[in-house]
Parts: sequence; C-alpha cells; structure tokens
Amino acid sequence: MSIMVTRSSMPSLEEYIEEIRPIFESHILTNMGPIYKRFQRQLVEYLGVSELSLFVNGHMALEMAIQALGLCREGGEVITTPFTFVSTTHAISRNDLKPVFCDIKPDDYTMDPAKIEALITEKTVAILPVHVYGNICDVEAIEEIAKRHSLKVIYDAAHAFGVTYKGKGIGDFGDASMFSFHATKVFNTIEGGAIAFHNISYQDQLHELKNFGIHGQEDVLSIGGNAKLDEFRAAMGLCNLRRMKVCIDARRKVADRYTERLGAIPGLRLNRPQKDVASNYAYYPVYFDKNVFGKSRDEVFAELKKQDIYARKYFYPAVNELSCYRDKYPQNTPIAHDVSTHILTLPIYEELALEDVDRICDVILG
Ligand SMILES: *Cc1c(COP(=O)(O)O)cnc(C)c1O
Repeated sequence: MSIMVTRSSMPSLEEYIEEIRPIFESHILTNMGPIYKRFQRQLVEYLGVSELSLFVNGHMALEMAIQALGLCREGGEVITTPFTFVSTTHAISRNDLKPVFCDIKPDDYTMDPAKIEALITEKTVAILPVHVYGNICDVEAIEEIAKRHSLKVIYDAAHAFGVTYKGKGIGDFGDASMFSFHATKVFNTIEGGAIAFHNISYQDQLHELKNFGIHGQEDVLSIGGNAKLDEFRAAMGLCNLRRMKVCIDARRKVADRYTERLGAIPGLRLNRPQKDVASNYAYYPVYFDKNVFGKSRDEVFAELKKQDIYARKYFYPAVNELSCYRDKYPQNTPIAHDVSTHILTLPIYEELALEDVDRICDVILG
C-alpha cells in the first residue's frame, strides 16, 4: 500500500453526523451560525489567544488580515521569508504590497532576525515571518525589532496549530497570526483558517472583510469579499478539536521513531527540538548532505517513490525562485536556497504505523 506524506485526521462518520444533525433541523448552513460560534469559542480556549476570527481558508484569512491591519499603503513593503508555502507571498502581492525576502536560520528554518533590520526602509509596513514545520520564529527578537521601527508583525502560523512557547499559545505573539485548517494540516476543518489577534478593533474589520463589508441590516460600510467558514466545516472542526491530544501524541510517537532510527546517522540533519516549545509534530524534515551521507535528497526521494512512499520536497523551490516571482525579486537568500534543495519532509500522520516508519527508514538507509 502506498504511503503518502500526510493523511487527513477524521472523526468517525457517526460522530460527524451527530455534530451536523442540528443543521438539518435549523437549516442554518452558514453566515456565522451557532456551530461556527461554538467552534470559535472552543478554539479561543484551545489556542490560548485573546481574539479569533474564522475564515474559509488560511490564505484568505492572511490576505484579509493584511487589510484589517491597515497595511495596504501604496508602495508598501513587507519583510517576509522565501522559505514558505507560496500562499504567504501571494497574500502580500495580491494586496499590491511588495515582498522583501529575508534569509532564514540554518538551524530551525525560520526568518533570521539578525538580517531583518538591513531590509527595513521608509516603505516597510510590516514583518510577516512563518513558523516553519511548527518550529517557532524568534518571537522576542522580532517583537523588539518591530517595536523599534513601529512595524506590525503578522505570523503565518499555518504549521503551528497547538504549538506553545513558554506555556503560551503561539497565536498570542505579534499583532496577528494566521492558522490554516486545510485537510493536510495537523488540525483540519476540511478547508478553513483563522486569524488570532489582540486588538479588539480588528474583530469588526475582519468580520466586514469576510462578509462583503456588510454592517447591520441595512448598510455596507466597506468593500469586503466573502470568506466565511460554513457550519459543516465548523462541525468538522468541533469533532477534530476533541481528537487533538490523541492526534499529536500519535505524531510524537512517529517522530520519536524517526529520530531513533535516523538521529545518529552522519550527513542527516534532523529538526532539533526548540527550548520552551511544545511542538505539534506537524512535519518531519530531514536535511540530506550527500557529501557525508552518500545520497542526495533527490536520490532518496526517488528511491522512496519507487517503493510507493511519497515524501515531499517542502519547500522547494524557494518562493523567490518560482516562475511568478523570480524575475521580479532577487534570489539573494542563500540559506533558503540551500535548505530548499536539501530538505525532504517524511510521511507523518496520526495513523502511520511504526512498522511503516521502520520501512521508510530502511529505504533511506539502504
Ligand atoms: C497551508 C499553508 C497556507 C495556506 O493555508 P490554506 O488554508 O491552505 O489556504 C499558508 N501558509 C503556509 C505556510 C501553509 O502551509
């Protein structure tokens, strides 16, 4: 049987049916209904954040967060990372802002705070770092830089659902954080996402943005779009939220087995646990140094594929090397380039059997 890089966590059919049963009585399908509201309250608690707004997906949430924070100024620049899923950069670009790529740290793959200040100009409006693989950014250093230059900070926390730092929810840092609830993420609502934030005034703005700018019954205050999370997806969220502990525990066991098998192998660089961080084990990245290990990332990828095992070159290529961006922006982020060409994320999901982890390791080491 083939092994994919991930497999969506799901409740039992019966449990989901119980959760959506009230919808067939109320006929309330969407527009911030009762299930949406209940799901939102539970998420605020689970994530340990002060405010939350739910969205149809993480990408629209990020696009609209940039708007709600008032960052869309003509010629505005946003300092971000090229080592991310293309959605991060698209959210900036689709708001007519210019992404300015800051290189990453070689140890945890997040934005290198030591390289941010050299990129700040009078046009800079915000910093948009990414918590890569569930590794968190240096939130303290980034906050200090942002304060010194009066910049907003929005985190792309799509990989960091349920991650805590010093006992605090990771969505509690910065001006806003985007979570993705896409089917492939640690926690899913099929498609879905959220913005976590502190400033209560963003609540109305995000609400308007995702609901056509409608305010009250008879007026429209702004030119919003449509990015509402519906009741069926919120119901999926309620079910999956109950299963988070089981899901993360199972992922931890898979991660521990990989580490046991691959940890001492010369030429393989594993993801190191970060101090004071409770991980969600969202991904299991391995950096392959061919000179020492003997096989390149691409060779290992191909060998696994031959055995019907699908690891992922993630993120590859770096965003500033993609067709839609490479002619517009410089490729002066050597560490992001290096990591993107050497890293492979191995299959990890709740139901992945440890025997399968062993089989994957056998192929890698074979
Ligand atoms: C998944 C992801 C997104 C987009 O989220 P969607 O819910 O799929 O729209 C953005 N950034 C990163 C880093 C992601 O992994």
